[in-house]
Amino acid sequence: MKNINSKECSDSLTLKGLIAAKSRMSANHPSLAALSSKQSGIEAGIGGEQRVAEVLGRYKFPFRNNIFHDLSLSSDSYFQIDHLLKTPHYGVILETKNMAGSLEFRDNPPQLIQKREDGQIKYYESPVIQLERNIELFSAWLSERNIDFPLYGAVVLAYPKQHVEIPPADTKILFPNLVPPFVKSLPREGKGLDTSTFNWLSAELIRSHQTYIPKPVCESYQVPVTAIKPGVKCVSCGNIGMNKIPRSWHCPVCKVTNHLAHEQTLVEWFLVVKRTITNRECREFLGVDIHTAKRILLSMDLITCGTFRDRSYRMDFSKKR
Ligand SMILES: [Zn+2]
Repeated sequence: MKNINSKECSDSLTLKGLIAAKSRMSANHPSLAALSSKQSGIEAGIGGEQRVAEVLGRYKFPFRNNIFHDLSLSSDSYFQIDHLLKTPHYGVILETKNMAGSLEFRDNPPQLIQKREDGQIKYYESPVIQLERNIELFSAWLSERNIDFPLYGAVVLAYPKQHVEIPPADTKILFPNLVPPFVKSLPREGKGLDTSTFNWLSAELIRSHQTYIPKPVCESYQVPVTAIKPGVKCVSCGNIGMNKIPRSWHCPVCKVTNHLAHEQTLVEWFLVVKRTITNRECREFLGVDIHTAKRILLSMDLITCGTFRDRSYRMDFSKKR
């Protein structure tokens, strides 16, 4: 496998949760603004990472390499790498930022200050810190596997109109098209990894990659469960409140019927409300009786926890939904 792109399983689950939560909240709920701003941040991040992935995908390096996007690993703690480019001689970790306006990297204390065109000023954790933390955690991950391999890093600014007012003192800042020349310019010393170790490492990275499951929106944003409108959502028109008919669901708005409509609604429960669901919660959320709820929960290939009386179910998001 040349590269993996797990973007669909991590940021897009967060995105899916935010969009689902918003669709089930009243238009004047005070938490809506926070959800929308998180949503646009994630969308921008995905856009930036795609731009970098495209540049790397198009470029033909004159040496063997593998590129991994959005890799989630754990050593001492869990960490996520936007892009990892691996050659037999070294690895390059790229941290992507996609922000408009002019940027100032402060080193002491480390901070990223964004001045937007509308005059707004925002403060962020410096991506230099995130990059250094990732390099440290990834070297620990490699040494647990007895691999001695130099690591380099850079922060990539993917937004087309980004302007850097003050760069950080010791970290490389690149625009996407400058990434390939930077990677090529790094020293290739010694023998490097032999082919079988190089291939083993690629397989090990893929094997160790973990799907990132975001916390349910209600937990992350302290939204009470009562603010989330229950009901099966119509897969055609988005109306919440399909009616149960024998062996199927019927939408009173667009008149469509769909016998699997409850599946996406339950995915929304796990992303928005709670990691687990009981038969009672399922009944209330879908608007069905105890037997239908049981049949639905058993049909969805969920992970069962607890015994008969306090049984609950969990979704395994590493399976494709
Ligand atoms: Zn409908």
